[in-house]
Amino acid sequence: MRTALVVANWKMHKTVAESLAFAAALGPALADVRGVEAAVAPPFTALAALQNALAGTSVALAAQNAHFEKNGAFTGEISVAMLAELGCRYVILGHSERRALFAESDAFIARKVRAVQAAGLRPILCVGESDAEREAGRTFDVLRSQLEGSLAGADAARASELVVAYEPVWAIGTGKTATSAQAQEVHAAIRAILRELAGGLADAIRIQYGGSVKPENAAELMSQPDVDGALVGGASLKAADFVAIVKGATR
Ligand code: PEP
Repeated sequence: MRTALVVANWKMHKTVAESLAFAAALGPALADVRGVEAAVAPPFTALAALQNALAGTSVALAAQNAHFEKNGAFTGEISVAMLAELGCRYVILGHSERRALFAESDAFIARKVRAVQAAGLRPILCVGESDAEREAGRTFDVLRSQLEGSLAGADAARASELVVAYEPVWAIGTGKTATSAQAQEVHAAIRAILRELAGGLADAIRIQYGGSVKPENAAELMSQPDVDGALVGGASLKAADFVAIVKGATR
């Protein structure tokens, strides 16, 4: 059985002091929670402080992005080795904001997936269709092309460490959520595509749902057989809400 994974994606929110205040509330609140894995993806600037603050807790650390080169003249970028040094277990890749605002292509994301896997960290690969693509009946084609493109050259032997986040773009930060039936239908389709790419290992790949997940809808979404946790934006900024969502994912 797959252990659900719930990740707080703070995006460009929280200073180091604010991150530490969150961690101080989170560790004790999740101390007795079993059957689910939680992780926090703060801005790069708070990773070192959280590495310390979360040591000895069950909460893992994730990064929001990484560059695929080991080092070099890439002003403003962070390498996977730098993230590994700070104790990151996961790296979010291909978030729709990076695809849309920073023009990241599937081929570019695929290079990052390969670099993250090579360093022994776990990619959280985000895929999802826009409103227009859904309206045009293109959801499954879009997802297939994102998955095939972003996983090109990925290490199949490490497939079970891969996490895929299905984040319909129309549901991110909008308050609109996919129904649990819609999410399950798409997650099952994603798993079928992953099976073509990774064979039986696809059954071990966790597929998170993301898009306006909140305490009120989390348990229902994550009760679906192919919904293996959540990637949470807005509602992850308050420790109490994030804790409630994590508890809603226990299986
Ligand atoms: C996200 O950006 O990954 C996300 C799911 O955001 P929100 O929960 O705010 O919709």
